[in-house]
Order: sequence, then C-alpha cells, then structure tokens
Amino acid sequence: MTHPTTGTVTAYIGLGSNLASPAEQLITARNRINATPGITELAFSSLYHSAPMGPQDQPDYVNAVMGILTTLSPLDLLRSLQNIEHLQGRVRDGERWGARTLDLDLLIYGNEQLDLPELTIPHAGICQRAFVLLPLAEIAPDLVIPDNRAIADLLKNCPPTDIERLTA
Ligand code: ATP
Ligand code: CA
Ligand code: CA
Ligand code: CA
Repeated sequence: MTHPTTGTVTAYIGLGSNLASPAEQLITARNRINATPGITELAFSSLYHSAPMGPQDQPDYVNAVMGILTTLSPLDLLRSLQNIEHLQGRVRDGERWGARTLDLDLLIYGNEQLDLPELTIPHAGICQRAFVLLPLAEIAPDLVIPDNRAIADLLKNCPPTDIERLTA
C-alpha cells in the first residue's frame, strides 16, 4: 500500500538458490538488497529447504522471503533484483526452472496488480508454491494478496510437502 506522505510501498521478495552454497547466496543477496538505495528491510523469514520444481536433475533449494519498504517503482525494483542475480553469477541457459545461484522474484508490491511483458504482480506462482507461501506466512501471517486471497487460505490449498524449515 502506498504511504500518503512518503510514497513508500510494502513489497515482498522471494529468494531461492540451489548452487554454490545456497544459504550463503541468500544472505549475500539479503545484504545487497538492503544496500540498494530506496529499499529498507522490514522482515526476513527463516531459510527453508525444498525439493526442486520442474527438472529433478538438480540439487534441492534453499528459499526465503523478505519484506521491504521501498520507494522504487515496480520495474526499477525488478531491475535492481535482476542486477543482484547477475552479480551473483546467475546464468540464463534457457532451461525453465533449471539450477541457479540466485533467483529473486518480486512477489507482491503493495496492492498493485500488473501484467507487463516483463513483470506480473502478484507473481504468478505464489498460490501453488509452498516454498513461497510458508516463508511469506511466517513474516506476514495476516497478508491478503491484492485480489483478496488470504495467505492462510492459500496455504490450506497448498500442502507443505517436500519442504523443511531450517533452524534459525
Ligand atoms: P518463475 O517466474 O515461474 O518463478 P523463474 O523465476 O525461474 O520462474 P526467471 O527465468 O527467473 O523465471 O524469469 C523469467 C522472467 O520472468 C524474467 O525475465 C522477468 O522479466 C519475468 N517476470 C515476470 N514477473 C516477474 C516477477 N513478479 N518477478 C520476477 N520476474 C518476473
Ligand atoms: Ca538440468
Ligand atoms: Ca522463481
Ligand atoms: Ca525469477
């Protein structure tokens, strides 16, 4: 939601990695997101260990969700996240959902609903993915996703199999 005086928006970012020390990749990404002008951290979930989606010939993932306050526009925020992916060696080899050092998805941006060629908000995968919903529910249990879906209801329809919360 847009703050009337400061123009800041609450947004949620999904982080994932399954290459080159995944937990460290997520911590480095968190620090880089925090160091980005126009972004302030609100919350960071536990780390979660999850089975890969899509191709199964790849390592398990570590996932987390970060809540931020931002003055960046949705597209500027996406570009900042893609820049951090690039800094951490993300290679796009064309295989959908293949192994990666870092994946940063913009899950939610205030109450915005966007459908641009390069950016869909809310992120299209939220509702089917326990590795997004569990960490999101941990840091924002009362969140209602812009088209009025409550996070708690989404979780009921998305059994948390093949995912484990790592001890903090
Ligand atoms: P998925 O999007 O299903 O989680 P992925 O994360 O593996 O798959 P990527 O290869 O990282 O997909 O991204 C493909 C494209 O998705 C990006 O180039 C980006 O422009 C687009 N995209 C659309 N909506 C979003 C969003 N909300 N957050 C991040 N990228 C997005
Ligand atoms: Ca593969
Ligand atoms: Ca993704
Ligand atoms: Ca992505």
